[in-house]
Amino acid sequence: MKMIPIARPIMEEEEKKAVLEVLSSGMLAQGKKVEELERRFTDYCKVKYAAAVNSGTAALHTALYTLGVGTGDTVITSPFTFVATANSVLMQGANVAFSDIKSDTFNIDPEKIQISQKTRAITAVDLFGQLADYDRIEAMAKEHNLRLIEDSAQAIGAKYKGRKAGSFGDIACFSLYATKNLTSGEGGMITTDDEDLWQKAKMFRSHGQGSGSKYHYNDLGFNYRMTEISAAIALEQLKKVDRFNEIRRENAKTLTELFADVPGVTTPFEKPESLHVFHQYTIMVDRKKRDHVVQYLKKNDIGCAIFYPKPLHLSVHLERFGYKEGDFPIAEDVSKRVLSLPIHPSVSESELETIADAVKEALS
Ligand SMILES: *Cc1c(COP(=O)(O)O)cnc(C)c1O
Repeated sequence: MKMIPIARPIMEEEEKKAVLEVLSSGMLAQGKKVEELERRFTDYCKVKYAAAVNSGTAALHTALYTLGVGTGDTVITSPFTFVATANSVLMQGANVAFSDIKSDTFNIDPEKIQISQKTRAITAVDLFGQLADYDRIEAMAKEHNLRLIEDSAQAIGAKYKGRKAGSFGDIACFSLYATKNLTSGEGGMITTDDEDLWQKAKMFRSHGQGSGSKYHYNDLGFNYRMTEISAAIALEQLKKVDRFNEIRRENAKTLTELFADVPGVTTPFEKPESLHVFHQYTIMVDRKKRDHVVQYLKKNDIGCAIFYPKPLHLSVHLERFGYKEGDFPIAEDVSKRVLSLPIHPSVSESELETIADAVKEALS
């Protein structure tokens, strides 16, 4: 039987052709393809502006920089996310404050957010492809005059009350990493409705140079530019992402049906007001059995992964913020129970059955 990987980028003839065209064009670094991709992203997310960068991490760093988050500021985020969400805050010399999550969606729980004098911003994460509770979070940010960043790295195409991922907060940040629902190998994108933030972001990604003012530096910057090769791939992927997401949703529905009568498996929860794009299909099992299930699946050539095995507040490089075991009981509990199963568009119906059967066998 062939291996079922946890993720698999789908690169078809269109992507290959687009890359070859770029390679023959003589223009490899940021150019017209990148600009076109940005335009398409604004249409897709229904926002005014987009700026491409070369990773989701670069997008988060750029967002925090352009929002003026720096030394002495605190940014609140979830402890149950990929490390880049927190590291981007450290890159700006600011402090991270964590706040516990909800056990059903795994997203930050707005009711638990505690704002202090030092709080400057909130980074809400759309974990596993489902949007955070933006009604409450946006209201909070407004009331306390905080900046809001949407980490939409895992959520392209997802919706909340009809609004698309990428349209929440002051700036949203996408990742186009190889395993994400839309990929260009590596890549990132910021989206915003604020023209000033957009201009600043475009300078920051390219050494503080304004457009048409090469070697005139207006501000600090990095080289966070996207290549034309990445943009050409992403342009083709963007045409397909709704179809890919639809297959992910169908696969999720199938798996959830297959687990319906399996005791001890908690299947993913989709909020009624949200459209989940299932970047990950994450179940929960008894914490005493989880690692056995992982081993069993691996032994049977089924890729699976634990996102995430350790909440960020227990990470050694964040020790100085003084968190300890017990501070965020929900994040700590789910981190011992979660398990993500293959859900990507290349997984076949019979493979979904194989996956569900293997989980059942491992638990019995
Ligand atoms: C993937 C991811 C990032 C970082 O994106 P890269 O492109 O890998 O730098 C940030 N936040 C979340 C939630 C992610 O899943």
